[in-house]
Amino acid sequence: MTTVADTARESAARKPKPGWLKVTIPGGEEFTRIQRALDQRGLHTICRSARCPNIGECWNHGHATFLIMGDHCTRDCAFCAVPHGNPAPLDPDEPEKLVETARIMNLRYAVITSVTRDDLSDGGSNHFVRVITTLKRKIPDLLVEVLVPDFGGDEAALNRVLDAEPHVLNHNIETVLSRYARVRRPVEQYHRSMELLRRAAEQGAVTKSGIMVGLGETRAELIDLFRELSRRKVSLLTIGQYCRPTASSVPVDRYYAPEEFQQLESEALRMGFSAVASGPLVRSSYHAQELYETHRFGGKPAAKNKEKR
Ligand code: SF4
Repeated sequence: MTTVADTARESAARKPKPGWLKVTIPGGEEFTRIQRALDQRGLHTICRSARCPNIGECWNHGHATFLIMGDHCTRDCAFCAVPHGNPAPLDPDEPEKLVETARIMNLRYAVITSVTRDDLSDGGSNHFVRVITTLKRKIPDLLVEVLVPDFGGDEAALNRVLDAEPHVLNHNIETVLSRYARVRRPVEQYHRSMELLRRAAEQGAVTKSGIMVGLGETRAELIDLFRELSRRKVSLLTIGQYCRPTASSVPVDRYYAPEEFQQLESEALRMGFSAVASGPLVRSSYHAQELYETHRFGGKPAAKNKEKR
């Protein structure tokens, strides 16, 4: 049965995006160079797979977020554009291909994420380890951030990744607990994610998490979520606008104004995060190096929005 709230949401979803979410069509010399380097090696990025609006800006500044272990996910979250389906077998050469591409891109900071691989007994954790250790060994100055799935709550899988010592362990909580059903996630997943973040911080990792707003959450719920993450010693936080990536994705409830993102950033900083990036176009890996360096060196303003670059 369609409720009044459903109708209101559908109408918000059909509304044109506000001007602050408009981006230019990607292209340019550096963009093409990165695209070629990736395509020649059969590598994927979340930038393309998730239809990230920042792709033109990031790639032209030589930043991309690698998507390892294929481009098909074993889960089917309603906010995500990454195709759901049977993933391909792991590519044993992927770590070396990432090294080659990182060199071509002159990367100083690499962000590595993956599809969720519930089909693998280790959740893909050993592959993460191979990627981290190969990158660190072959490019010693490189800083490595990993944005990991929840590994089904497998503590050994998380420990394996932590033992490889990535500089940042990122895991997105995505939204407030009350919205989990709406985005096709079981509530246990929320608790599992919180537990993963707690364990990682407890073991000394620099932890990071990210949320999308505009899914129907309340301000009070957001503040509670910040508090919960802060209690688990999460250091870095990203807050961005949810934008419906495909017609079959969950509709947008509302678009937050840029000033609201500033207010959320101030609230989060008051709760003890060492660095927060909050803005309409902020995504989990947006200006990742700047966010990490704000945490590492303290005092510098965190990245917020494209105009701030
Ligand atoms: S914000 Fe992240 S996912 Fe989006 S284009 Fe930039 S690096 Fe890629």
